[in-house]
Formats: sequence, structure tokens, C-alpha cells
Amino acid sequence: MSVSLSRSFPLNQHVTSIIDGESVVAKREGFDIEVVNPTDEQVISRLREADDTEVDAAVRSARLAFDQGPWPRMDINARKDILYSIRDHLRKNAEELAYLECLNTGLPLRSVQVHVDRMARNFEFFAEVASNVHGETYTQTAGYLTYITREPKGVAGCIAPWNAPLALASMRVATCIPWGNTCVLKPSEYTPLSMRRMVEIFHEAGLPPGVVNLVNGRGAVTGQALVSHPDIDMIGFTGGTTTGRAIAATAGRNLKPVALELGGKSANIIFESADIERALDGALAGIFSNNGQQCLAGSRILVQRGIADEFIERFVARAKNIRLGDPMLADTEIGPLAFRAHLERVLSFVEVARRDGAKLLTGGARANDQSHGWFMQPTAVLAPHNDAQVCQEEIFGPFATFLIFDTLDEAIQIANASKFGLVTYVWSDDLHTVMRCSRDIRAGTVWVNTPLMRELRAPFGGYKESGIGRDGPQASLEFFTELKSTIIPIDAVKMHRYGAA
Ligand code: NAD
Repeated sequence: MSVSLSRSFPLNQHVTSIIDGESVVAKREGFDIEVVNPTDEQVISRLREADDTEVDAAVRSARLAFDQGPWPRMDINARKDILYSIRDHLRKNAEELAYLECLNTGLPLRSVQVHVDRMARNFEFFAEVASNVHGETYTQTAGYLTYITREPKGVAGCIAPWNAPLALASMRVATCIPWGNTCVLKPSEYTPLSMRRMVEIFHEAGLPPGVVNLVNGRGAVTGQALVSHPDIDMIGFTGGTTTGRAIAATAGRNLKPVALELGGKSANIIFESADIERALDGALAGIFSNNGQQCLAGSRILVQRGIADEFIERFVARAKNIRLGDPMLADTEIGPLAFRAHLERVLSFVEVARRDGAKLLTGGARANDQSHGWFMQPTAVLAPHNDAQVCQEEIFGPFATFLIFDTLDEAIQIANASKFGLVTYVWSDDLHTVMRCSRDIRAGTVWVNTPLMRELRAPFGGYKESGIGRDGPQASLEFFTELKSTIIPIDAVKMHRYGAA
């Protein structure tokens, strides 16, 4: 299915910030960033970067909405009604959101439609969670009642990446505002189109002004101004590990808490005891869905020696058959990479692999049957050992790295020999093998005989350099709320009377 929406591009207006519920008018002067369609390399819009002053205005709006506005003080049913209205408005505008996302990111429309549904559900789910928050009381100390309440923490800086803006930015916002917090969202400068429409829709759905403000621009300018702003109370970040480290350093200096969802180099382990057909489908989906640009990609495929030759041969045959093309078309399986510099970076790993002594199994070049666009052939290499750079670095594209192992212990050791620890995929019908992997692999999520299943009720996040903190009902409650202890005597307590005669 292709979408019926049509717009003329380039859009004649700049993509600007939304502050206090109002679209900021682009000043005559300012720094512009071209927004490009990765499928045909045409400029489709321009983004006007928010400078320090504009970021300050956005933070002040969020601050005012938190300190004096209705949102944190609202009856939970009223707040929930607005969050449900956001869900409904997102669904009503799903076609337009998916179109803008597909146009700007090159993600296949099929995947984006799933993301749009996920985005709407994020608001519904966390609205429900927030409406069930409860406190504690302590009465053990004679004569006293102590009760513990949860309060929203304040103003959040929410920063999102370009690889799946709707799914990921909505997660940042949906885990933050239901408790009564307000925020300033900074999406990636590469993919602002769907983000701007998403924030407009929040307001059309009845969100009070100032609760979600949007600023656009480069990380080093707009992002840096946001994370170093003294009136921000916490930072929720999804993006690369290097950026996460810089943000955590700034936040640390200002004593602001951070939740970081970072990169990965996840092991996808195929045991001889697996259902091979399913493992093959899962391995291909694990590395090639979302154009290979996903934190939770199963990018290190570990295959047990007894099945390795046949498995790899069949994987390569399927990879050669993948349909590259216009992401708007229903049967396209892989679209272009999101921007030129990214394509060049991913391609550079072909040479890195060669220097590592890896064997190129398929792909390894720009797709030459596409005259325009940043398309890369689905690529796979066989690495000589796990220390190879292609086994250790996140490549973030349609680039699979195979390794061969002999024993269960060796597979676990290789899976853990990484600075990352986001997810692991395990393919086996042997219970002992599965249980050992579940217990011994140091990753935030272990998927057994299934790829890419996201359970909103379960915490999601990474060990080691894949992050700090989790998204999920309990983890988000703890990150986005403060605990307050109120201590009250039931009868008048006897006190020492300083200075009394
Ligand atoms: P990135 O780190 O380059 O950028 C992410 C965001 O941070 C962008 O909005 C960018 O403008 C901003 N930014 C950059 N420098 C900044 C600074 N100094 N201060 C404040 N903001 C700054 O990441 P990316 O290339 O957009 O996204 C890809 C990365 O994101 C990959 O490493 C991927 O694994 C990771 N990711 C992780 C998850 C997860 O849930 N763990 C999900 C998706 C993507």
C-alpha cells in the first residue's frame, strides 16, 4: 500500500520550534539546516536552528507550566483524558505521521505504520500506569504517622535520535509527562518533520501549552544548550554512546539525573538445537529491519559450527534477494540509509572488515541499481574472531557480522565480550541452553526464539555502555518522580523546651 497524501516539496515554511503551544516564527537571520529525502536526495524542507535564547524560552515555558500551570495539579482523570485524547489524535493522523516519517528517514512505510501504532499506545499505557501510582504509610513508631507520596520531578530535557523518531521520541515524552512533569523535546536535526507534526497534534488533542515544547537544531548547539540549562531537572536521552557520555558529564556537573538509552552490538546466537527456519527468519529480521538502523539489531550473528555453513549460505541467499527500493512502496523491505554521512560511515566498515581479515559474504557496496538515494546493499561478513572491529563497534546499518562457535560456554563468553549489553537473541529448543543464556548473558533483554518483541510492561534498557536506567512502568516512575516523606505526630509530642525557665 502506498499513501494517498501528497504535498508539494520543499515545504515553503521553515521547521521551527514550538514553544508554549505556539509555532515560533523564523527570524530573518538564523542558521538553517537542509532537510533531505534520503530516497531521492532532494531538499524537502529547511530547519531553523534554535539558539541559546530560543532554548531558554522553551525551558522557561516548561518551567512555568510546571511551577504554576494546571498540568501537575490536574486531577488524574482529567490528565488521563488528555493523554487518551493524544492517543486518539495520533491514530487519527497516523497516515500523515507515517508519510512524513517515511519521507524523511527512508524507513519502510510498513515498519513506520507499526511505530505509529506503538507511539499511540505509549501514551495510553503510561497514562494508565500514572493513574495507579500510590504511596506508603508507616505507623510502627508509636504516636506518629509517616506517609510517603510521589510527586512529579519537574522539567525534563528529552533528546531523541533519527533512526525511528516517532517510536523513540514518543517513548521519551510518554514516560515523562503522565506523572505531571513538563519537558522540552529536541529531536535529531536530520529528521524533524514527523516530530514537528507530532507536537502539533499533542496540542490539537488538548495538551496545555508549555507541557511539551519542541526545539530543533544540532546536538552541539541546541542539544548542548538544553542539557546544560540550569532550570532542567532531569534528562532523558536516546542516542549514541559517545553522545550519552558527553551528556552525562554535563548533567553530572549540574547534578541532574540522566536516563540513557544508548547503542548496542547485540549477539544473535543460533544453536544447533534451534528451529533453523525460524532462526533464519529471526536473524534476517534482527539485522535488516528498520534498514539495519536500530539499537537492538542482532548485528553479531553467532552460529554453532555444526550448522554454520548451511545457515550462512541460506542467510546470504536470502540477503541477496531482499527488495531494496522506495520506502513508500508496500513490498519494499529496505529503504535508503538516513543521510549521506551515515551511508559513508557504514560503507567504511567494509574496508575495516577487510583489514580485520573478515571475509565478505555478500553486499559491501552502495546499491548500484538505484540512481539516487543513499541505498546500501544488504551486507554480511564472516569475522575471524570477536576482537575484530566489526564485532566490537556499532555499525548501525544493514551489515551483519558472523562468528562461528563450538560450545554453549564459548557462545556466552563471546556474547559477553562486548562493551555493550542492550539485548541478546537466543535460538534454541533446548531448555538448559536457553536457561544458561538467560542467566549468564549480561544484557538488558534476552529474546528467546523471537526477534524484536517489545513488552511495554517490562523494563527496557542496557547493561554496560548500552545505557543507564530503564524505560518501563517501575523504572520510569522512579526516574520521573520524587519521593516525599511527611511525618506527623498523632498527639502533641513532648519536646525539649529550649530557653524555657
Ligand atoms: P546521536 O547520539 O548522534 O544523537 C542523538 C541525539 O542527541 C540527536 O538529537 C543529537 O542532535 C543529540 N546530540 C548530539 N550531541 C549532543 C550534545 N552534545 N548535547 C546534547 N544533544 C546532543 O545518535 P544518533 O546517531 O541520532 O542515533 C543513533 C544512536 O542511537 C545509535 O548508537 C543507537 O544505538 C542509539 N539508539 C539507542 C536506542 C536505545 O533504546 N538504547 C534506541 C535508538 C537508538
